[in-house]
Amino acid sequence: MKTIGHLINGEQREDGEQTQLVYNPATGEATKELLLANDDLVDEAIEAARTAFQTWRNEPPIKRARVMFRYKQLLEEHKDEICLLIGEEHGKIGHDAAGELQRGIENVEYACSAAELLKGEFSKNVGPSIDSWSEHQPLGVVAGITPFNFPAMVPLWMFPMAIVCGNCFILKPSEKDPSAALYIANLLKEAGLPDGVMQVIQGGKPVVDRLLKSTEVEAISFVGSTPIAKYIYETASQNGKRCQALGGAKNHAIVMPDCDLDNAVNQLIGAAYGSSGERCMALSVAVAVGNETADKLASMLKPKLEELRVGAFYDNDNDFGPLISREHQQKVVSYIDSAEQDGATIVADGRHPNIERYSSGYFVGPTLIDNVSPTMESYQQEIFGPVLQIIRADSMQDAMDLIDKHAYGNGTCIFTRDGEAARYFSDNIKVGMVGINVPLPVPVAYHSFGGWKQSLFGDLHAYGPDSVKFYTRRKTITQRWPSANVREGATFSMPVL
Ligand code: NAD
Repeated sequence: MKTIGHLINGEQREDGEQTQLVYNPATGEATKELLLANDDLVDEAIEAARTAFQTWRNEPPIKRARVMFRYKQLLEEHKDEICLLIGEEHGKIGHDAAGELQRGIENVEYACSAAELLKGEFSKNVGPSIDSWSEHQPLGVVAGITPFNFPAMVPLWMFPMAIVCGNCFILKPSEKDPSAALYIANLLKEAGLPDGVMQVIQGGKPVVDRLLKSTEVEAISFVGSTPIAKYIYETASQNGKRCQALGGAKNHAIVMPDCDLDNAVNQLIGAAYGSSGERCMALSVAVAVGNETADKLASMLKPKLEELRVGAFYDNDNDFGPLISREHQQKVVSYIDSAEQDGATIVADGRHPNIERYSSGYFVGPTLIDNVSPTMESYQQEIFGPVLQIIRADSMQDAMDLIDKHAYGNGTCIFTRDGEAARYFSDNIKVGMVGINVPLPVPVAYHSFGGWKQSLFGDLHAYGPDSVKFYTRRKTITQRWPSANVREGATFSMPVL
């Protein structure tokens, strides 16, 4: 069986007495063995990053950016290999994996403007012959811990910006689908990145805990489920580290009676079922305003769901693939069971899909549940599967109150033709990313990504302009070169102009 190792100081390493199996979710077969790092190996990765930082921090930003120019090209040239690795371990269909990679590459493009982004601020003559400037200094060794659902894109949210800001990076990918992250990290060497600037270290909680405890690691970026995000944020903060921890989600779409319902139905289907609903921005709840809207919505969705193609990533005509694991498949099914037991209506039932040739895969078919109420567990918890629930609300304000009360606040969207209503919605809703007739309002790479409430712990959002702030420390320098002719005596009051 093929093994998956680590990347330390520019070398591929095959260390690790303990291993964990990696599965192909479409077939249910264990296909690879992941080597798990022990404490010594994590420490070695940290030491390699610490050493490389002494030189890398002084490289001109334009030189750091040039590595990213070459890197972008390499990612594009190796697109097929990367998408294959994503498909084999995550199960994502080829077209969706290509979309994920493209969104990741956009973060590399943003990182190419490092020289501009790190320019800082300068003020001449803040006092007599006194100039002042603020600069962004790198933090040192920083680490990223990433989830299974975007094995290439989420790492690319983190390390290109961390690196061009002058830091050295340690990535701990998801142990469920680690190969794509390792592959893209290896391409950095070919792009000209010096050894030690980028490390990949494999494992689970023990590796994370070692990174959290290390006094050499200055900052942690985390993306994953909310309970772990909270743990990481609290532990990192207690250990004096900077941390941003992005958590789970429950994303609502308000469907207004005046909207273009044909369009809304199509948009909802893509956003609810794409990637098997395993996206933190997946729309998993449609809040229909008025019973008539809800009835129409359910009846228009049902036949379209019957046409969806569910299958393995090998066939690019499929709409979505399997879930990540048997355990997760069972969890998703148990949420559908609980909604049914709680009195909701199962309009389309994906609990027993018939997937030709892949009967051992972790598939759940497209599921639509109507008459869901806010007290149901299936509504309160993140399901993370191909399940869309309909809640009926009497008014737009009721729909907004429902969204505001939910523990998560990652993304939301409104379908309407009413500009005034849309503006009121975006002004007042307590959610971090808002779409107006846009179902997946994932910010582009030159904006930043982040939710509110239990969807993000920390002050700064991921990637884009916030990442410059996250991955650097501001230093402000005030400078005067005293003239030989002008000598001032000591002053004891606060200096003012
Ligand atoms: P997860 O929380 O199980 O794992 C994420 C990472 O944390 C992995 O690298 C894993 O190895 C590590 N980890 C797991 N348990 C740990 C523990 N006890 N201690 C320390 N580290 C631990 O998440 P997942 O199942 O891989 O990903 C799905 C989740 O991620 C969903 O909740 C989804 O909403 C969320 N997500 C959020 C965003 C966002 O931007 N907000 C983006 C993608 C995914």
